[in-house]
Amino acid sequence: MYRRRDSSRLPILLTFSLLALALASVVALRLGLLPGVIAWANERAARPAPSYADAAPAITPTDTPTATPSPTATPSPTPTDTPTLTPTAIVTTTIVTITSQLEKTLSPQPTVLATGPDSTPMLVPGRPWPTPDPAAAQDHYWLERPIGPGGQIYANAWYPYGTDARGQYLPHHGVDIVNEEGTPVLAVAEAEVVIAGTDAEHVVGPEPNFYGNLIVLRLLRTYHDQPVFVLYGHLSEVNVQPGEIVQPGQPIGRVGMTGIALGPHLHLEVRVGQNDYAHTRNPELWLKPTPGYGTLAGRLINAEGRTWANVPILIYQAPRLDRIWQQVYTYLDLPDINPDDDWGENFMLADMPVGQYRIETKVNGRIYRQDVEIKEGQTTFVIIQTVD
Ligand SMILES: [Zn+2]
Repeated sequence: MYRRRDSSRLPILLTFSLLALALASVVALRLGLLPGVIAWANERAARPAPSYADAAPAITPTDTPTATPSPTATPSPTPTDTPTLTPTAIVTTTIVTITSQLEKTLSPQPTVLATGPDSTPMLVPGRPWPTPDPAAAQDHYWLERPIGPGGQIYANAWYPYGTDARGQYLPHHGVDIVNEEGTPVLAVAEAEVVIAGTDAEHVVGPEPNFYGNLIVLRLLRTYHDQPVFVLYGHLSEVNVQPGEIVQPGQPIGRVGMTGIALGPHLHLEVRVGQNDYAHTRNPELWLKPTPGYGTLAGRLINAEGRTWANVPILIYQAPRLDRIWQQVYTYLDLPDINPDDDWGENFMLADMPVGQYRIETKVNGRIYRQDVEIKEGQTTFVIIQTVD
């Protein structure tokens, strides 16, 4: 789904526009196109060990980009704060790192770095967030990729589940996989077709004609005794009928841009329990990681277990801990944006190359930092519970 929000949100877009390319670049990286796109986006001068703890305004790069900005980018965002450094205090908090499946480890030395006051607006905690025990969580990567190897198989990192692309679009209830018009879309699992047609008459999203030509599958297996639905939106062709049983990898339709879509892409949605817009989950905790890749998921909550919504999470890839590799935002605090039943995450990044990473975030003047390892085919889960 791609729908612009009203233009009053434009300043937000501009503030973060450089990061748009940084995030888009992860796709290029996955395709082996990598290059300096990442480098410029978040390069932060010649600081010896830049991080939030340097009080550098990490989300507003200070370098002059050498790559061509996107059409919506402004070339010279200015830092919004230059706080005075105060001595940092390192205290232990309840950050834990848990890797799913057989190896579950608690991080021995999580850190909280207190910094001086700055001009960052004070964050207000949202609703109580579900907090299932990640040590008991089970991965459920049941879904194959809905696009074959000839196409783009990774979701657009700029507009992930539960976010609004820095205020640019409506809150996202799925993920977008950008491909050329006519690219075949494939069944992700053994499933029954429950909807095949359009949403012109039957509301499947927030309003009629939202997803255009669409298919909804119901998996033949259940999850915690609940049905699991997978929705394919904006198709140019639908090649199955309701009641049909499909097999993973079977072509069922083609990528298009029907309904509300700015360009051809597959909008993929996972719904648990009921087939409606309020029961979505993050599809990237369902799509099987590709070889050599793993998943980061986590929960950023306050001391009372309330969600910190729409907060940047900075990700550094070892050994380059001096530049931001990727940035994600915690989910918006909306009643129809849901955490995974097993994990209870409110942020995640899928399709990360295996290896060592550092995660940092900042809540009301304190920096929270955690080193994590991403393992092949697994979810590495991080809990960051703030002290306030
Ligand atoms: Zn979408």
